[in-house]
Amino acid sequence: MTLLDNVLAHNQRFVTDKQYEGFQTTKFPDKKVVIFTCMDTRLSQLLRSAMDINHGDAKFIKNAGAVISHPFGSVMRSILLAVYELKAEEVMVVGHHNCGMAGLEPGGIVEKAKERGVSSKTIETLEFSGIDVKSFLTGFNNVEESVRNSVKMIKNHPLLPETIPVHGLVISPDTGALDLIIDGY
Ligand SMILES: [Zn+2]
Repeated sequence: MTLLDNVLAHNQRFVTDKQYEGFQTTKFPDKKVVIFTCMDTRLSQLLRSAMDINHGDAKFIKNAGAVISHPFGSVMRSILLAVYELKAEEVMVVGHHNCGMAGLEPGGIVEKAKERGVSSKTIETLEFSGIDVKSFLTGFNNVEESVRNSVKMIKNHPLLPETIPVHGLVISPDTGALDLIIDGY
């Protein structure tokens, strides 16, 4: 059985047995917060438990490294949507120690892509089209600094109300311990 088969088989039982009943909530976050964090598997449940965020409490936005690459990209749009449409009243950016984006070498990913069949020609074509493939695939050097940058970009966004606090934190993927980087109040 493939993973997809397993997912679908489980899902049938889940719905038939009405296991969804414990999950009823609304689209509005009970704690009126939007949390922007990393996609790291170690954080999935740990972060919620370590921060006392239960099902229905928060809007979650995740990507690699909790990095906002562009002020008018999908992360920022999601934050604005959470604030204006979903009644979020504060934002928390939560980076983490030992993040895969820390010290990510762009050349390494390009090499792996080539090994997996992406031709040098394709890379060249992208670069000729003005896409800086290497900087697109670059991580950050320091997680605290990266969190500060994300907080700054959100806080200074021209479409975000000035009254919204934006906090910056770094979590340990082992213990769940939080370091406060920026208190947005
Ligand atoms: Zn990470």
